[in-house]
Amino acid sequence: MKITVFSTKAYDRDFLEAEASRHALTFVETGLDRTTTALAAGAEAVCVFVNDALDAPVIEALAAMGVKLILLRCAGYNNVDLRAAQKNGIAVARVPAYSPYAVAEHTVAMILALNRKLYRAYNRVREGNFALDGLLGFDLHGKTVGIVGTGQIGTVLAHIMLGFGCRVLANDLFENKALVAAGVRYEPLDTLLAESHIVSLHCPLTPDTHHMIDDDAVKLLRRGAMLINTSRGALVDTRAVIAALKSEKIGALGLDVYEEEAHLFFENLSNKVIRDDVFARLLTFPNVLITGHQAFFTHEALTAIAQTTLANADDFEATGAPRFPVHA
Ligand code: NAD
Repeated sequence: MKITVFSTKAYDRDFLEAEASRHALTFVETGLDRTTTALAAGAEAVCVFVNDALDAPVIEALAAMGVKLILLRCAGYNNVDLRAAQKNGIAVARVPAYSPYAVAEHTVAMILALNRKLYRAYNRVREGNFALDGLLGFDLHGKTVGIVGTGQIGTVLAHIMLGFGCRVLANDLFENKALVAAGVRYEPLDTLLAESHIVSLHCPLTPDTHHMIDDDAVKLLRRGAMLINTSRGALVDTRAVIAALKSEKIGALGLDVYEEEAHLFFENLSNKVIRDDVFARLLTFPNVLITGHQAFFTHEALTAIAQTTLANADDFEATGAPRFPVHA
């Protein structure tokens, strides 16, 4: 199958090419939007990522060029107009799961780095500053960790934190009995926020969870609590969190995702002026650690993403339907 891969980074090419001998891939670095649709000319499928914008006009243009399949190389599909795809006879496929370990382990890396101030220690030692003031941490052993969303990623995180000797509280629409048997206690969100030394978010972004950490939620937190979000940026009201950092209600913040990340993440902007004042304010706090949506970025996860993306293409060729379809 002829597939045009949009928003290609070197790592996308490496992992897709390693799996794709049976397909003809054309890689383009540019994202897919209304101005770049022509780059899909001659392709039967397009392969896209989280910030490609597949609205109705883009989908109509793709259909007119003969594109029959949209291969999302990610789990989320909020950037595709599914109704327009259905109307134009284009199938949509995604990668529903790759490595929950990748995201859970990055979450733990953020917790440890923030607690023991590793990012500050790294810079100090390189400058010959071996003073310890400002680097004081706490034992994770015996602390309470609150996990919001105990699906694939939250479950892995719960087991890791139990291994550290933490007390683990959880909140979800459904209880995971195996976690309860392992010692995790499900609590209402208010109780979890009030009792946890560390709160980590692992639920999807839905109308119900949008800004779940807002001014009211922040009020419930323990003074000095650590908040981690490796899920979706808009779970957190960034302005509420900035106010809580200023008042020291929040003692440490780790973000791998940010509400307005589409304008920032995945690009090298080091020669540019950052115009997002809210994001710029976050960068000024010594107790804030931000990574640019890299929690998924492991060898195993990228291998699984490439395999599943191409399995979707294989199945579409063989049966007319991708392995993991997304329906309107
Ligand atoms: P999952 O679907 O396995 O688990 C999500 C859990 O959240 C489910 O158990 C669900 O019942 C629960 N949930 C839904 N609504 C809730 C609510 N209102 N309150 C509490 N719990 C609720 O998903 P997953 O694979 O564990 O992924 C979790 C999230 O991680 C995804 O939604 C995605 O946004 C994010 N993610 C981030 C990265 C990254 O690189 N940073 C990578 C993959 C996934």
